[in-house]
Amino acid sequence: MTTIDSPPPRGRPIQRLSEVLSNQIAAGEVVERPASVVKELVENSLDAGASRIEVWIEQGGKRLIRVVDNGHGMEDGQARLALERHATSKIASVEDLFAIQTLGFRGEALPSIASVSHFELESRIAEQVDGVHLAVRGGQWEEESRLVMPVGTRITVRNLFFNTPARLKFMSAENTEAQHVTEWIQRLAMAHPESGFKLWINGRESLEMRAGTGEYWVGQRLATLFGDDFLANCLELESHQEHVAVSGWVGLPALSRSNARSIHLFVNGRWVRDKVIIAAVREAYRDLLASNRYPVLVLFIQVPPDTVDVNVHPSKQEVRFHQQTFVYSTVRRAIEAALATLGRRTFQSSEQPSPPPQWFIPGMTKSRKNS
Ligand code: ADP
Ligand code: MG
Repeated sequence: MTTIDSPPPRGRPIQRLSEVLSNQIAAGEVVERPASVVKELVENSLDAGASRIEVWIEQGGKRLIRVVDNGHGMEDGQARLALERHATSKIASVEDLFAIQTLGFRGEALPSIASVSHFELESRIAEQVDGVHLAVRGGQWEEESRLVMPVGTRITVRNLFFNTPARLKFMSAENTEAQHVTEWIQRLAMAHPESGFKLWINGRESLEMRAGTGEYWVGQRLATLFGDDFLANCLELESHQEHVAVSGWVGLPALSRSNARSIHLFVNGRWVRDKVIIAAVREAYRDLLASNRYPVLVLFIQVPPDTVDVNVHPSKQEVRFHQQTFVYSTVRRAIEAALATLGRRTFQSSEQPSPPPQWFIPGMTKSRKNS
C-alpha cells in the first residue's frame, strides 16, 4: 500500500516588481508617517545648503506637507532623476559610504514619498531664470512644466498614503501627527544652527528658530526644545578621548522625565536612537536618578566617519560604532565628569581617593570600574 508523493504544486512565476511597487515597498520603511516625510525633505534641504527652511503642514501633515528651501536647487534633468529609485548626488562609490558627510545617501526618499502621495517638486538653480515643476501621483508621472520662482526647492506632498489604506489607517490624530512633525524639526534644528527653520501648522506659525551660532543659538534652540528653565538647570560639557568628541548640555537630576524621549543624541550631526549611548547616559546618572527616571540632555558625539556605520537602518536612526565599548565609556565619563562638578561626586577614582563631601551618605555611592 504505497502512495507516491505528488510534487508540491508549482509556485507562481518570479517576476520583476514594477518601479512603482518597489518604491511603495521602500516607502513602507522610510515613510512611516507625515513626520518621516518632513524629516526626509528637511534633510534634503540641509544637504542642499539651505540657510532657510520653511515647513507647512495641514491636518497633521495628512492632507498637506510643504517644504520650501533656499538651497542650491536642481535643474530639470536632475530633478527628474531625483525621483528615480536609487538616484543620488551624495555618493558615487562604496568608499563614499564610509565617509558620509551628508544626511542622505540612499537615494530613495523622494521616489518613496512620491509613490504614496500626490507629489509636486519645484526647483530652480541660480544659473536659470525659471524653475521646473514636476507632478507625480502615486508614483505615476502627471506633468512637467516651468514656473517663475526663487532659487531653491519646494516640495508639496498631499494626501499621504492615499493609495495605501493600511498605512492610512495607522495614522494618529491630527495633533499627535503634528507633534511628531514638530519634534523632528526640533531635532534637525538642534544640529543645524546655521539654518533658520519655521513651521506653520494649519496656516499658523507654530515654531520659529532663526539661524545663528554661539550663545544666541544655545539660548534659543535649547529653550524651544526643553523650555526656558532648561538653561538655568543644565551643565555644559565638552570633552574628547582619542577620536571621540562629546559635547552638549546635560540637565540637572531635578529635571528628570519619565521616558527616554528627553535624551537627544546626535552622532556626526545626525539624530539617532542608540542603545549603547543611552546606556552610557543612564549609567552616568545612576546614582542621581531613580531607575524609572530619565535625564534631559542634548549630546553631540563626533567620530571619524569611517568608524561608524550609518547604513544600518533605512531611516538612518540607528548607527553602529566600530568601537562600541570605547564610545560607551567616553560618553559615560564625559557626563560623569560634568555631573561631578555639581558638588556631588558620582564616582570615586581609586588612585586619588578624596574625602567624602558633607552630604555623603555611606553606601549611596556605588563603586565603579574605571574602565
Ligand atoms: P538622497 O537624499 O539619499 O540622495 P533623495 O531621494 O532624498 O535621496 O533625493 C535624491 C536627490 O535629489 C538628492 O541626492 C539630491 O541631489 C536631490 N535633492 C533632493 N531634495 C533636494 C533639495 N531640497 N534641494 C536640492 N536637491 C535636492
Ligand atoms: Mg534624502
